[in-house]
Amino acid sequence: MTHGVDDPATVLRGVGERRALLLRRIGVETVGDLLALQPRRVETRGPVVPVGELAEHEGSWVQVNVRVRGVAFVRKGRGRSLVRVSLEDRDAPAGKGARTEALYFNQPYLRNAFEKGREVELYGRVVRAPGVALAAPRLVRDDDPPPGSLELTYPLTEGLGQNVLRSIVLRAVELTAPSVVDPLPREVLGRLELPPLGVALVATHRPNDRDALRAGLRRLRLDSALEFQARLAARRRARERGSAPACRAGAEVRGAVLSALPFEPTAAQRRVMDELAHDLARRAPMRRLLQGDVGAGKTVCALFAVAVAARAGHQAAVLAPTEVLAEQHFATERERLERLGVRAALLTGSTNARTRRKVHAQLAAGELDAVFGTHALLSDDLRFASLALAVVDEQHRFGVLQRERLFAKGRDVHQLLMTATPIPRTLAQTLWADLDVSVLDEKPPGREPSRTFVLGHDDLPRVLAHVAARVETGESLFWIAPRIESAAGARGAEEIAAALSRSPLGARGVALVHGEVPTAERLRRLAAFRDGEAATLVGTTVLEVGIDVPRATCIVVEGAERLGTAQIHQLRGRVGRGGGTSWCFLLANEAGRDRLRFLERTDDGFEVAERDLATRGMGDLLGERQTGANAEGLGDGEPDLELWLAARDLVATSPELRELYAARAESRR
Ligand code: ADP
Ligand code: MG
Repeated sequence: MTHGVDDPATVLRGVGERRALLLRRIGVETVGDLLALQPRRVETRGPVVPVGELAEHEGSWVQVNVRVRGVAFVRKGRGRSLVRVSLEDRDAPAGKGARTEALYFNQPYLRNAFEKGREVELYGRVVRAPGVALAAPRLVRDDDPPPGSLELTYPLTEGLGQNVLRSIVLRAVELTAPSVVDPLPREVLGRLELPPLGVALVATHRPNDRDALRAGLRRLRLDSALEFQARLAARRRARERGSAPACRAGAEVRGAVLSALPFEPTAAQRRVMDELAHDLARRAPMRRLLQGDVGAGKTVCALFAVAVAARAGHQAAVLAPTEVLAEQHFATERERLERLGVRAALLTGSTNARTRRKVHAQLAAGELDAVFGTHALLSDDLRFASLALAVVDEQHRFGVLQRERLFAKGRDVHQLLMTATPIPRTLAQTLWADLDVSVLDEKPPGREPSRTFVLGHDDLPRVLAHVAARVETGESLFWIAPRIESAAGARGAEEIAAALSRSPLGARGVALVHGEVPTAERLRRLAAFRDGEAATLVGTTVLEVGIDVPRATCIVVEGAERLGTAQIHQLRGRVGRGGGTSWCFLLANEAGRDRLRFLERTDDGFEVAERDLATRGMGDLLGERQTGANAEGLGDGEPDLELWLAARDLVATSPELRELYAARAESRR
């Protein structure tokens, strides 16, 4: 009888109903699913070591072949105990072999497990306690990997042992690998230096060496990438058949938007507006990611899209991650929108019940064209007469499900996602192939990069003198602390605010905001800062997103070593928005300073993001599942962009492969 990858796992010897159930918990239904499991960790199974040489292997895992000399049991009080099994090398006659011990803490039942004279093989880690001993070694079993071989660790679930799973996987490999036909053309495999699937499966689950394993895993990862890309392609095609409200932006709407602005849009902004106009005019719902460094002027692009949707007789919603930001969007855009005949409202967690009811009613009745807000926009009882456009600002601040809740409030809603934490364009298009990407790569004119200095905390007096002089001339200042309360030698926002109030800065007003200040009060203090009543704003990183105060020219960040470089870049994007020179002082401990130094040299958000990405790793970005996270112990944590690009191209050029992998992806849901 021959079996294939599509057969249920129960065709394998040793897999009955009970194990099938356990396997299902790790996502395995079929033989093919077993083959697709990727080991989490790889270790070399330790060698067999003569007892006399154990000392040279301290800290490593080894196997010893020994004879039991005796067992001592020590009670240590409070339920703790120690079983010491005295052992000798069994290659020597009884009583003549080199000696060692196996130590088992708190497993009293083991005292009867070793009868004197028995010959056993034990596998464990060599420790010094104070003589050389093995820490809780296990009996070697027939199905353990042989000494010196590679030992793979698969993801498990309770009730399913590593050895059992390993042997089931090996059975699946033996049964099917010889007959597996690789659907990918030879030429593609050759170019990527990948083994064909059948070989890859054997190399992955029964590797001869690490190189073979690496190559095998890469071939399997290409399959994961293909499934991912095929799924995106399917989604994109479904989108093409969508029926979003087509919102046409004639010359008249464009002219009106431009004349409502107090400045000339940059060429980049014009280009993005063109892209938006093109997308919005179609029945296929827009899915556009707008990437632009802080201060690049994304808001204007959003404003344009909102106006287009509203002028076409539909509604738009603009979602922001914080009340401060929503409120600020609303404050700046409302007037411009009104001039365009667009009726807009604000809805946040602190909107009072009466206003909220009114706004809800007006949106449902189509008496409002646009709404700005926070999570309050996601509420189930909020309905729109005709939602055509959803804008999500700082989109990475929201989970997929949250965003979906907003999009679900209309049928085939046009989506504009905005972010100031860009990722490189090719990467973005590869990973998010169902998104179109726009990039604002030009800053409004007259914007100088802020002068950034990485300093130690003992430079504080100099920094203070510098910023106090700026504040004297009417400029404003942000002062950031990673935490609210002081701890471990680092000042918190509260302590800093108190200290600055007593300094020369005090005379011009110091405001403090952080997550624990009640919203109404926080907004009041922010307004005081915006209006210049308080020249200094002390805060935690809640200030990071979106605050736009042109008068602000300086930012001081204490404990900067605790923040990510992309985050710091966002923060310094808060200053210098009014043109002219601006300063950013990063105070960090000695260990943290080197990492931050490159911020002194570049003001390019894309470069910062790329560096940040390199240090954080791709897993962050993709979630573990999609990366097929690299197995620990293989030492290749690098994202395999080549594979992703190959997968994208294959799916784009071969309908057969696209369908094959889309079907596989589908069957895996
Ligand atoms: P971000 O991309 O970070 O959201 P904003 O949209 O908040 O940036 O814009 C930053 C600042 O630049 C705002 O004060 C905005 O009014 C101003 N701005 C945007 N576009 C231009 C432009 N073309 N010319 C001059 N100033 C502009
Ligand atoms: Mg913004």
